[in-house]
Amino acid sequence: MKRALITGISGQDGSYLAELLIARDYEVHGLVRRDSIEDSSRRLSNINHLKEDITFHAAALDNELSLYKVIAKVQPDECYHLAASSFVSYSFEDEYSILTTNFNGTHFLLASLKEASPDCRFFFAGSSEMFGTVEAAPQDEATPFNPRSIYGISKLASHHLVRNYRTQYGLFACTGILYNHESPRRDFKFVTRKITSQAARIKLGLADKLYLGNLAALRDWGYAPDYVQAIWQILQHHTPDDYVIATGVNHSVEEFVTCAFSYLGLNYRDYVEIDPRFYRQAEDIPLCGNATKIRNALGWQPTKPLEDIIAEW
Ligand code: GDP
Repeated sequence: MKRALITGISGQDGSYLAELLIARDYEVHGLVRRDSIEDSSRRLSNINHLKEDITFHAAALDNELSLYKVIAKVQPDECYHLAASSFVSYSFEDEYSILTTNFNGTHFLLASLKEASPDCRFFFAGSSEMFGTVEAAPQDEATPFNPRSIYGISKLASHHLVRNYRTQYGLFACTGILYNHESPRRDFKFVTRKITSQAARIKLGLADKLYLGNLAALRDWGYAPDYVQAIWQILQHHTPDDYVIATGVNHSVEEFVTCAFSYLGLNYRDYVEIDPRFYRQAEDIPLCGNATKIRNALGWQPTKPLEDIIAEW
């Protein structure tokens, strides 16, 4: 039986990954903060249905010793590092805590694995925000990085570290460069869940307006369970490598909002108002991923178009 350790197990991706691994007979271990264990019904709601099948370990990404101890004890065959301070704001507020958590957390995990479990395969959840302001679309593994947010910088620095642990120390360490991926488990601060949840509240008569930023913004939105499948496949391959994980299709926020409201028999124009507070700086060329490498190497491809993802909400 393989043993897997997941950071960020209570998040959208961590919960789908735990389901996938349990279904494949893995022994699944999850790193969580101590306060999550104490308030599990609320903070671990995405994985409440899996609690009996997961061994939880209290540890913090900014505490190297706590991570080292868990890794030394669990001796995982595979480690999936999904935890991060994950909201992309282009302002640089809170930059110290985002950088510290995201970069040091990755560093502490890699260093601990190298010392205590060097045969463990390691996956790092990178982000399309590593590409940031791009000169062309779609982007692939050879596209130059140009991050525009502290989040993107923290992910890019971690990605370079992952590559160095692979080349310098021989660790089986890989980065998946993940474009936006959505599901009913997505956090409410992301625009997709914000739209679907407020549209439902409007339909039920519990709200009457939805305030959004730039409706023309384009994103490459995929389906989170598909992306978790890709993440797992990356660690099953014979060679460690880095891959773009994307659909290669852009949709606008306006297309998303139109589709979500029309599922409920509503016209979004009657409810949506623009609030400049939610605007980000203009993106002349959108983030859109070219996933040819992972399709050719691992046979992975996305299964759900955006309309079907929205329909699941
Ligand atoms: P991100 O790609 O990680 O930044 O995911 P988000 O879901 O936060 O944002 C996706 C896109 O939606 C971005 O281009 C935003 O500019 C755009 N957007 C438009 N209105 C909103 C809003 O009200 N909230 C958020 N979060 N994003 C919005």
